[in-house]
Amino acid sequence: MRVLVLTGAGVSAESGIPTFRGKDGYWRNLDPAKLATPHAFARDTKLVWEWYRERRERIRNAQPNAAHEAIARLAHHTKEFLLITQNVDDLHARAGTPAEKMVQIHGDIFVTRCSRCEFERHDDEEDEPEQEHVVPRCSKCQGPMRPGVVWFGEQLAWRELQQVENFLDGRACDVVIVAGTTATFGYIIDWALRARHDGAQLIDVNPEETPLSRFATRLVREPAAIALPCIVEDLIVSPSD
Ligand SMILES: [Zn+2]
Repeated sequence: MRVLVLTGAGVSAESGIPTFRGKDGYWRNLDPAKLATPHAFARDTKLVWEWYRERRERIRNAQPNAAHEAIARLAHHTKEFLLITQNVDDLHARAGTPAEKMVQIHGDIFVTRCSRCEFERHDDEEDEPEQEHVVPRCSKCQGPMRPGVVWFGEQLAWRELQQVENFLDGRACDVVIVAGTTATFGYIIDWALRARHDGAQLIDVNPEETPLSRFATRLVREPAAIALPCIVEDLIVSPSD
């Protein structure tokens, strides 16, 4: 069985990580969609860092939920497997999905990278407190460092994009699961549709309709943490081929 799973904010929302949409996502009365841009970083670097530090803290205090665990289980049971997540948190990794079977297409919030040169580092917990309220500086070029995430209006990172393309260039998938994402980005829709062979399953897990719903062979109008453990159990017990 060859499987592709695509996840979005809905999967982490159930672990208490607010999505960018709706009132829950607001921070100090600010719209996160307007903070997660190169323009906001250039205009108010310190403010953007404060927001990201709070988000990092929230993620550190959160726990993977049943959806993350079900996907990790499927990853271990399936030899040819890729998870493409739009989430920048580390909950899929902490649930046990192996790094080599996962692509964080919108980056990793715990990576700090230079806005001028190629330098980047992974920030562990001990690094945080001393940098509080300070914009980190690059140890190579002294440029302002930024979170290692893809902001609105930015291109996807080449390395991650290559991982996705390599997987899609291989054999077509028997099962594609799209969970907790409204599939707003065209490339998510494109990858989900490109990955399948004729007769493959396309499972859309979302409480609301998505642009992929009309292509789905199975619609599950439930939160991912409720739906995915059953879906994964079914796939493992009676795989499609
Ligand atoms: Zn630098």
